[in-house]
Amino acid sequence: MDLKSILQYRNKCIFCQRDLKFYKASHPKLRFHIGDDGFRMKSGHFKNGVSMSFGFNGSFQRNERNYKIYKSPLIISKYCSLCRENTAVVNALSSLSATPNIILKSRSVGRTTQLGTTFNNMKELECSYVFQIMGFNQKYSVNMNHESIRYNDEESFYHTDTSFISGTTIITHSKFSSSINDILTLRIANPVNFSKITSAEQFVDKCKKLILFS
Ligand SMILES: [Zn+2]
Repeated sequence: MDLKSILQYRNKCIFCQRDLKFYKASHPKLRFHIGDDGFRMKSGHFKNGVSMSFGFNGSFQRNERNYKIYKSPLIISKYCSLCRENTAVVNALSSLSATPNIILKSRSVGRTTQLGTTFNNMKELECSYVFQIMGFNQKYSVNMNHESIRYNDEESFYHTDTSFISGTTIITHSKFSSSINDILTLRIANPVNFSKITSAEQFVDKCKKLILFS
């Protein structure tokens, strides 16, 4: 995927239809702008601070000062901040309730450690993807890294983690009423393209079909 396709891979949250926001964890003050001719990142005031410009024609420009951020690939997330915040609140509330903690393995893609989590923590709404970009000598390289979509209704959850690097999609699904042993984890040996999915219904439908036919 080229830069334009990656930037446009998804613009709106599947669940609440709000615009997804760019975010760089190590530089929360970085601002992002998509123009007609390219993608810009900037922090600080007009003349100082980080400033990078990635042209859709393949060109790369930055300002002269040698900021550390220029020396390694930039991992950029694009996600729905509202759904993520709401999930954090719901999880905080549910951790106060007397639900038994059941530990299971999850989050197997794109995360280095196995986190202990509870069935309750499967109640997540997340719509996000991550890409990587690095400029060097007036050129740049860009790659899609992964996409995470997490959804639950009252009865069940569907999580998908797609790694565009290893070329796999992992679907995790279960009903909240069923046993922890009945969690279905399906690994698909081709990254599933969810970019045309625009609603929770479509997402659940797509997951159901993948589970049936894979
Ligand atoms: Zn949202």
